[in-house]
Amino acid sequence: MLTGIHVAFIGGDARQLEVIKRCIQLDASVTLVGFDNLESNFTGATKKPLTCDVLKDVDALILPIVGTDDQGYVESIFCSKQLQLLDEHVASLPSHCVVYTGMAKPYLKKLLASTRLPLVELLDRDDVAIYNSIPTVEGALMMAIQHTDITIHGSQSIVLGLGRTGLSMARALHALGARVRVGARRQEHLARIYEMGLTPFHISEVRQQVTNADFIFNTIPQLLLTAEVIAQMPQSAFILDLASKPGGTDFRYAERRGIKALLAPGLPGIVAPKTAGQILAQTLSRLIADQRKAPGGDAT
Ligand code: NAP
Repeated sequence: MLTGIHVAFIGGDARQLEVIKRCIQLDASVTLVGFDNLESNFTGATKKPLTCDVLKDVDALILPIVGTDDQGYVESIFCSKQLQLLDEHVASLPSHCVVYTGMAKPYLKKLLASTRLPLVELLDRDDVAIYNSIPTVEGALMMAIQHTDITIHGSQSIVLGLGRTGLSMARALHALGARVRVGARRQEHLARIYEMGLTPFHISEVRQQVTNADFIFNTIPQLLLTAEVIAQMPQSAFILDLASKPGGTDFRYAERRGIKALLAPGLPGIVAPKTAGQILAQTLSRLIADQRKAPGGDAT
């Protein structure tokens, strides 16, 4: 339970509603900043403007998945006014307050560094990244189906990277009957790919591997699908780049060659905002409850 803990939310999208719901269920005291246009009536939550006074007794501050932009603006789909997180706001948070976001930009990191308040980046966590790989893979399959005229079953599919997303992607393609090759650089990853019944190749051989590819799913946030690699692909190949912006594909060259290549960021929030919100809610509620157990973390 989160009884006696004050949780404040600043901005967010549909995913945040699941987190708010969970915090209210667990009996936290909830303040919503930047939710002026939110229709659904969360009994037990109070809407407030962004002021220093509102933040002064907050135990956990929850920002949207993207945190702030490079000027400190926080996005909220539930508010038409601009929300800018400034020095004075974080300075008014109590010293035991923990700040949660998905991924922090340098602005937010710098702002919090000056106060020494702990910052938790949820998307860095293995558990969240693995749960998130479920809606990501479903979204990737949806896009692959929408943008091609062949089945995934029987296709020559390549996955680049065997991290948390790559592994789930490779397994799903295999289960659908694709002929799956996976490119990785670590020997233990190559061994795992083999163990899964898939075909491993070292990432340095990507150029030779793509010559008969139908689908290429990239999860490596490095430019690996260069013009030289794309030049080897059949024109019918479809590249879906799942890696964080700017992706790992030379999109300019792909377009020039007439190869369909798409960057697909933020799939969990697009294809399954409710599930993506529940994933965050589950982890966040546990982390906030654990704050109490941390040394000096008596949030009551
Ligand atoms: P991850 O677990 O860290 O996996 C990344 C993989 O890339 C690792 O296996 C890593 O291999 C490999 N890698 C990194 N640099 C490499 C290089 N130079 N050469 C070869 N391999 C390299 O990350 P993840 O959680 O799977 O996420 C992958 C990417 O997808 C991230 O950019 C993430 O932000 C993004 N993502 C996007 C969505 C979406 O909706 N599109 C959803 C979730 C995540 P090593 O282990 O050898 O370093």
